[in-house]
Amino acid sequence: MNMDGRDENLESLAQMSNRYGGDPRYVLAGGGNTSWKNETELYVKPSGTSLATIRADGFAGVGRAGLDAILKRQYDPYDEAKREADVLADMMASRLPWSLDRRPSVETLLHNLCPGAFTAHLHPSLVNGLTCGADGPSRARGMFGDGVMWIEAYKPGYALASLYSRKLEERGSAGKPTPDVILLQNHGIFVTADSPGEIGSLLDGVMKTLDRNAPIKPRRDIVAIEPSRLAEAKKKIADATQKHVTVGVPTILHAANAGILEMMADENAFLPLSSPFTPDHVVYCKARFLYLESASETAGRYTRFVSENGYAPRVICVRNVGAFFIGQDERQARNAAELFQDAADIAAYSRNFGGPLHMTQELTDFIIHWEAESYRQKMV
Ligand SMILES: [Zn+2]
Repeated sequence: MNMDGRDENLESLAQMSNRYGGDPRYVLAGGGNTSWKNETELYVKPSGTSLATIRADGFAGVGRAGLDAILKRQYDPYDEAKREADVLADMMASRLPWSLDRRPSVETLLHNLCPGAFTAHLHPSLVNGLTCGADGPSRARGMFGDGVMWIEAYKPGYALASLYSRKLEERGSAGKPTPDVILLQNHGIFVTADSPGEIGSLLDGVMKTLDRNAPIKPRRDIVAIEPSRLAEAKKKIADATQKHVTVGVPTILHAANAGILEMMADENAFLPLSSPFTPDHVVYCKARFLYLESASETAGRYTRFVSENGYAPRVICVRNVGAFFIGQDERQARNAAELFQDAADIAAYSRNFGGPLHMTQELTDFIIHWEAESYRQKMV
């Protein structure tokens, strides 16, 4: 059972996962995933679990031959939903016998293609300031050269892994080495190496370079809001949300800091937050936020938002008061708060890299309707 040091490697994988998962600079909520593999087996974070708490026996084991076969197989080129369902079925069928109660991460196919034994996929806001920056591709080339692969914004899962596979082949035929760092536009970073220590050094290198090249930082200094004004806005939001929450009383959290209040100064200042930067923002905050210039507009604008978008807002921004996060429970509201702050941080960092660049509507729609993401959202 432990001929190739599997147990020790899975223990190291769990430690690495907990270290990054527990540090909000690298990943939030149920975001990110990690893996370890040998010649025949790959162990990856299951979908809907959290890097912060995963243990050595918590990973999903998958046979690599099955994963290799998925990328060679022909799937329905016209019916995206059918393709995704078939890929998922093939991936589930590749699980090792002791992992049948787990669903491997949506990025398992990409982990399988990465050259290192260990791979970490994370969503640091500092990195995403670059990947969500209008000048991202040229700035990445300038800072990191050929040692880093840039992948343009693309549908996650099978489609992304296929694109990466094609890019690897192109690099191979051009005689270029396989990079150990991949930057995914509007998404995050993959780092791959033969040990967690090497992953740490590579990631540190990227973070330090970005930090030096990003003099504009998020402004998170807390701003006190006058209590009666805050209470009034919260009451109006509670009244509006009440009829859209199916179970119990919604949890409403509030945040106000210099950075987010500045972005709520008017419709124009709010543009960087007007649509999502990465899939996690859609998963935890929904695709759009409701922006109000005054709390007195809440009832009417809330109803209009629901009829225009088909869902209730999870984030409501009120000028001079701050952002409100509405959840069916505490966890949902807290995840929305964390990912909203992440979006605000990315907006700030992106100003160092050509200004904010959001996901396209097509990509956002794909995430909204992707079964894999609704599964993930349900779990964490
Ligand atoms: Zn990701």
